[in-house]
Amino acid sequence: MIRSFILILTSFLYATAWAGEPTSQPVAVEAEEEADDHDEDEAEPANGIDPELEAIPGANVPLDDTIRYTTDLTDQDLDKRFCGDLASLGSISVGFAESGRMIGAVKMSQDPAWTLVVPEYAWGTQETVDYLSAAARLVKAQFPDSVPLRVNHIGKKDGGYVRPHRSHQSGRDVDLGFFYKNDVGPGGLPRAREKLIDPARNWALIRAIVTQTDVQVILTDRRIQNVLYEHALAQGEDKEWLDSLFHAGTASLVQHARRHRDHFHVRFFSPRSQELGRRVQPLLAKRPDENKVSHRVRSGDTLGRIARKYGSSVRMIQRANGMRGTFLKLGHSLTVPMRGPCTQCPLPPPFIVPARRLPPELKTAVGTPEPTLTTASH
Ligand SMILES: [Zn+2]
Repeated sequence: MIRSFILILTSFLYATAWAGEPTSQPVAVEAEEEADDHDEDEAEPANGIDPELEAIPGANVPLDDTIRYTTDLTDQDLDKRFCGDLASLGSISVGFAESGRMIGAVKMSQDPAWTLVVPEYAWGTQETVDYLSAAARLVKAQFPDSVPLRVNHIGKKDGGYVRPHRSHQSGRDVDLGFFYKNDVGPGGLPRAREKLIDPARNWALIRAIVTQTDVQVILTDRRIQNVLYEHALAQGEDKEWLDSLFHAGTASLVQHARRHRDHFHVRFFSPRSQELGRRVQPLLAKRPDENKVSHRVRSGDTLGRIARKYGSSVRMIQRANGMRGTFLKLGHSLTVPMRGPCTQCPLPPPFIVPARRLPPELKTAVGTPEPTLTTASH
């Protein structure tokens, strides 16, 4: 209780730090674009809530920033490798899912267990790629004749804004298509997909993600959730466990989100990549090529104002984002190259990956395991 209060308080402080800019100057702002280039995956809910700054279901927020997941690296090692051998650090998740970026992202490979719908947007943290691969392979092992899982956007090679999403910026989010009954897709029926989905394989996917990975949250429409819950219950899954996944309010692992009636949005914890992201932030200025921050445009922003805030220039921002003019799109993120150390860059709070929520039979079989930590491949 106290911890969640602290989390909320911390979140508020971070949110306030973000919002602390004056907004008096007029700004050229275009309306948020509608998602029109995806058949399956729509925009994140534009409700102004930043899930990254909200309470993390089940997460433990430590009162200190002790190094937990990168203890193999002293500060000196990190400094040396960041400056001289960046690739050896593996993937680094910088900033927040809704305004962040990636260093050393890993690309999801091709595999019979899944299809990459947009291969150029299949870059994530090492943890995301490993977790997703493990979950998809488990489903494939249970349903060998199934069509592959549709892996839609994860993120771009350097992270940052991916149209049409608000998140997907720091390598921890992925959109997954549903499995449909008899593999017949919804065609022109965008709405009642809960009637068309194959409960067995979709539940197998959710079960695999929950039991095999360190997942932070799964977003999908409540009507989809109901089908999966009823199926799982009928299959003899433990009700208490199911309720902790679906019916535990803000502590549920599976959460309802608007415009998520046609896909699962999964956010994984990436303990090592996220902790590295926190630790490298003060080092960014040592590498001009990596000295960038992601800034989400809000009402009142101008290019000049953003440039001043971060010690950048209008020209540098334009070049980094392929912009010709000065139009800013509300809610979108800009990559802002900086000339010196960033004193205005918000740092995500430290966290401890919660124990996995396992069904009783797995719990008694292996005890409550420590979260598996993926280490960089170097
Ligand atoms: Zn998504």
